[in-house]
Amino acid sequence: MRKNVRWLLALSLVLCFNLTLFLRGQELELKSTEFLKKAVAQVSEQNLASTIKTLQSFKTRNLLSEQKAVNFGIGAARRWLLKEFQKISGLEVIDDGYLLPKQGGRIVKDTELHNIMAIKRGKSQKERIIIVNAHYDTIAVSKDGKFNYEDVNTEAPGANDDASGVAAVLEMAKIIAGYETEATIHFIAFAGEEQGLVGSTLYAQKMKQQGKNVEAVLTMDMISNIKAGNGYIESTRVRVFSEDPNDSPSRELARYVRRIGEMVLPAMEVDLIFRADRFGRGGDHTPFVVEGYPGIRFTEARENYSNQHTTTDVFDNLSVPYCADITRIILASVLSLACAPEAPVVTNERGAPLLGRGQGYDAELRWKWHGEMNKIAGFKVYVRDTKAPFWERSYFAGKTDSFILKNVSIDDLTFGVAAVGTNGLESLVSVYRMPPRRRAEYVFQEIK
Ligand SMILES: [Zn+2]
Repeated sequence: MRKNVRWLLALSLVLCFNLTLFLRGQELELKSTEFLKKAVAQVSEQNLASTIKTLQSFKTRNLLSEQKAVNFGIGAARRWLLKEFQKISGLEVIDDGYLLPKQGGRIVKDTELHNIMAIKRGKSQKERIIIVNAHYDTIAVSKDGKFNYEDVNTEAPGANDDASGVAAVLEMAKIIAGYETEATIHFIAFAGEEQGLVGSTLYAQKMKQQGKNVEAVLTMDMISNIKAGNGYIESTRVRVFSEDPNDSPSRELARYVRRIGEMVLPAMEVDLIFRADRFGRGGDHTPFVVEGYPGIRFTEARENYSNQHTTTDVFDNLSVPYCADITRIILASVLSLACAPEAPVVTNERGAPLLGRGQGYDAELRWKWHGEMNKIAGFKVYVRDTKAPFWERSYFAGKTDSFILKNVSIDDLTFGVAAVGTNGLESLVSVYRMPPRRRAEYVFQEIK
């Protein structure tokens, strides 16, 4: 009898402990949802519309177009963007300029290229960098319907491609400037995208050469068209492209955005496309992915090919409410990441995952964290089948550096762990991956 009582007491203690953790996890989720919903309520459709219309008003923003005119060409567009960023207090505005000599098939004369950007410095972890970007340059086919890269001053309004993305970046900069973030955010309008991702390539290489810790790159390119040329209309889905494999850092960033999107705007479907980009097309996230940084691309659900790179890519063909919804999802994701703690480390010094079988048949997860434990709420463990596209369950583990799942095979599931701030906001999930097997060398002599 006494033994039974003791056993019951132990069981109820365990249940109580788990229940407390569970409730704490729920409480943190609610807190973060409330915080992010307040932020996205600030997105202004009027601001988005006004930016798109102004950028369109420069007639063309071709990289090689007019530089000096007041209200025509890329020079005028760039000076206007600089001024818009400068109006926002609390941001450091940078004209990231380059001289490019004539080269390749698309840079048909010597030119200047200017990425226009604003930096929001982080408070406690300023070395963590999140890059939110779109491209402000445009291109259009000539009157014969073909690309002629010499035809630099031909009309190219680029309202959707990609004034819509730039409008989102500018709106996010305005709103996020009012918050205190832990990580640093670079809000960038790239140039030379249409000449082959030139501005983003130069910037990605610069980040790599300077050894910068870029933890996320979010590119928006064409986020305002809802009607396809075949008549299909969709205004409640956005596509997010991320490179394979299924547990790549880019895919994990995409999953993060999907989770946040469901929290703040459940009516919108954040549709993860499991490939790096659209067929035969490029995006400014790619040069960052090439340098080893996690990068994803947002694009409308339905494209209208006959308006792309033509004089009909104009404001009147766009949906501003749709653009605003996509902006809300990205804004919430960026703010969440920037206000969350840094992600835990789930590998040892040799790069092997800190994942074991516990007593023999369990999953034992361990992790390292370099921040101050008293400044966070704890850690959250994520689990999914190796074949599953999204995380299937999660456990709030509290302030600890290990977690055991009883009678669970580590070989059959994928595990991850995120750090959770006292504000409920979560870091990216660090995933336990198998390191690639190294090539072995043996000493031998062939038997003749
Ligand atoms: Zn584009």
